[in-house]
Parts: sequence; structure tokens; C-alpha cells
Amino acid sequence: GHLPADPDVDALVLEAWERYRGVGDGKVADYIPALARVSPDLFGICLVGVNGVVHAAGEVDHPFSIQSISKPFVFALVCQALGGGRARESIGVNATGLPFNSVMAIELNAERTMNPMVNAGAIATTSLAPGANAEERWRFIREGLSRFAGRELAMDTAVYESEAATNQRNRGMARLLQAYGRMYSDPDEATDVYTRQCALNVTARDLAVMGATLADGGVNPVTHERVVDPDRCRRVLAVMATAGLYEQSGDWLYETGLPGKSGVSGGLVTISPGKGGVGTFSAPLDAAGNSVRGQLVTRFLSERLGLNLFASQ
Ligand code: GLN
Repeated sequence: GHLPADPDVDALVLEAWERYRGVGDGKVADYIPALARVSPDLFGICLVGVNGVVHAAGEVDHPFSIQSISKPFVFALVCQALGGGRARESIGVNATGLPFNSVMAIELNAERTMNPMVNAGAIATTSLAPGANAEERWRFIREGLSRFAGRELAMDTAVYESEAATNQRNRGMARLLQAYGRMYSDPDEATDVYTRQCALNVTARDLAVMGATLADGGVNPVTHERVVDPDRCRRVLAVMATAGLYEQSGDWLYETGLPGKSGVSGGLVTISPGKGGVGTFSAPLDAAGNSVRGQLVTRFLSERLGLNLFASQ
């Protein structure tokens, strides 16, 4: 199947924006001090088809740090570099059912594997990025995420410094992983590169293009550049479907039937395989750390555009 005709998609994206702009629920994240300064009113929705057509409503060009939405894309790049089999053995692909920053995620099985969508697994993933040192691993990640977005992404230094000063928990988890043989380069360096990757600025439009690239089997539909192979996309989307919204991943899949990934700065990316990517931005979060408006919008668009992967027609 395809998306409906372009004017119909435009109208639905605008309808979603009008329908949910007044929602005042949720709370802007403040455990990273710099994030607390973001306006709760900013709201943007962007859908990019695998044909490269952009549908947008609201503040789709407002920059915000990508945070956890970097996780699936870094996992895709690491799978591409190492092979999906090795990535799976090294990191794990099972949902934890636990909050994103859970230390217990590391203790769930004797192998000490988890999945790349929670912090511990994401830092392990970053530690696997190819490169002779942290600087090279950082360049691999920044350049790879930029290819997904189709433009050069840059780090928000204030957000990076703010998180670097307050990320003792992530640093502790990296050391714990090291003790279990599940950290694949220096733990402090890996946490630092992870903190940098989370501070890369994106927009809702960027997220939609990045999602559309995964929807398109790894080819960016705007730049036409191949970023990863189709086999990697399938694996990444499977992990997003089971673990992309942390402990609410089951609720999310039940409602939208689509792989998605949230971040604490208020972004949300959703992939409709073969059809396109949806990127939303709205900073107020629910208790699990997922954008309230982003979830409402995506559920609406999934239903109205008929995107649920489990629907028989
Ligand atoms: N950088 C954030 C952290 O590690 C990302 C978390 C998130 O977006 N859920 O805590």
C-alpha cells in the first residue's frame, strides 16, 4: 500500500496539529538542567514519504537535542559496521520493560545483555562504534546521523555540558557494564561520546527524514544516499517496536502498530515501513518520558492513514 494523495496527507497533518495544540498535559524534562528551558508551547509535526515529499505543520524547524532518538540510528550504523549478528550478541535485543535509565536493565539475565534503546544498551552500542579512539568514534556517529538527516548535524554545547555535569548515573552504568565484559571501549569515553550524540540538534523535519530513511530500506529519500542496508533497517525497526518507548512500548505498539522512538527533549520518530517517517516535537512528557502530544499525534495519524502494521487491510 501507499500513503493517500499528497493533499490528503497535508490536510491530516494540519488536522492533527490543530486537534492537539491545546493539550496542556505533561512536564518538560528537567533532570538535564538545560532541557528545562525549552518552551512547552513549541509544537511541530512532519511526515516525509519514501518518495521524499514533505508534509509539515507547526514548528518543524525548531532545533532541539535528539537525546534518545539517536539510539536506533546509532544502532543501525553499528549493525552496518559490525554485522547484525555481532551487534545482537554484544548488546542484546530483548525489551527490558524498565525505565530508560534503569540500572536493573543490566541485571536481567546472566549474559548481561539488554537492548540498544535503553541507556545501558545504548552506551554499549556507542562503545562498539568503529574508530581507533573516542574522537574517531564520535566522528563516525556524527557523520552517520547526519547522513540519516541529509544535512550536517551539530551539537548543542550547552545541552552537552549540562548533561556531562549531571550524568553520574550513566557513567556508573558504563562501569558496571565494563565489569560484566559488556563495554567495548573505555567506559568514560563511551559515556562521553553517548552524551555528545544525545546533544546533537535536530528538528521535527530532520526526524521525519531520518525515519523515512529507515522506512525506505536505508536510502535517504531526500538525498537519495544509501545510509545502511535494508537488512539493518528491519532489525532496527524490530527493536524499536518492542522497546522504543521504554516501559510503555507495549501500550504504544497496541495503539499505533508502528515502531517508534522517543527522547526526553520531546522528540518522537515513527516509521511506517515502505511508506514514510513521522517526526514530532513537543517538550511536555508523560511519566515514562515520552512526549504527550507526540504520542497523540502519531496515534491519530496511524489510524487515519491506515499505517498499523498488524491490520489485515
Ligand atoms: N541523554 C539522555 C540520558 O542519557 C537521553 C535519555 C532519553 O532521551 N530518554 O539520560
